[in-house]
Amino acid sequence: MNVAIVVAAGSGTRLGGDRPKQFLELGGIPIILHALRQFERCHDINEIVTVLPAEETAGFSSQAKEFGLRKLSRVVAGGETRAQSVQRGLAVIGEAEIVAVHDGVRPFVTPEEIEGVVQAAKASGAAVLVAPVADTIKEVEGNRIVRTVPRNKLRRALTPQCFRLEILKRAYEALDQLEAAGVEVTDESFLVERLGVEIVAVEGSARNIKITKEEDLVLAEALLKNLVL
Ligand code: C5P
Repeated sequence: MNVAIVVAAGSGTRLGGDRPKQFLELGGIPIILHALRQFERCHDINEIVTVLPAEETAGFSSQAKEFGLRKLSRVVAGGETRAQSVQRGLAVIGEAEIVAVHDGVRPFVTPEEIEGVVQAAKASGAAVLVAPVADTIKEVEGNRIVRTVPRNKLRRALTPQCFRLEILKRAYEALDQLEAAGVEVTDESFLVERLGVEIVAVEGSARNIKITKEEDLVLAEALLKNLVL
């Protein structure tokens, strides 16, 4: 049995609306429902836990059921950081072989991509969806360029990120201490890398964008209509 944790508890209203960006509509459907639907369609996912801002949890289950999301088993209130929100989702999972963690603001992941990462994690223990880097990347100090990082070795970390339950739970044991020390934990892979566990990189599509800014929403509307990429 494989469980997805879809985190959508961010409060960012940078896109100008009065609700967080994950609830803004894309083609008439909230972004979070687009994302959840891809997991509903993936045969390798049995159950979905979603993490929302506390004030958005009431009524979400029935809205999701009406939308046809039968795999949604729990709706949980999120934490102060993304990692804390994932941790709260993890806390309600009793049994699972693989846990797939996904950003609720990535509506364009495909069921095939999810399946690919779940299968890679089944075989190896840990796998992350990645995409190539198009720009040349510089390391800077202040406004001074220190060096150029070889681009062919770089990948952008997308989601889902999939792990055997035991590995993910062990990785998250370090969270409180890291955050107390001021370390920003922006994905699961970072925590699992610290365990020394080998993680497989699965090549994904550049269409799997994270909607965070105004221009992302414009791109998302075009992607929805299959106008670009
Ligand atoms: O903040 P960031 O852009 O990295 O958010 C990635 C995902 O994590 C989004 O889907 C956001 O809603 C979620 N998140 C969360 N809880 C937080 C902060 C972010 O679930 N406290």
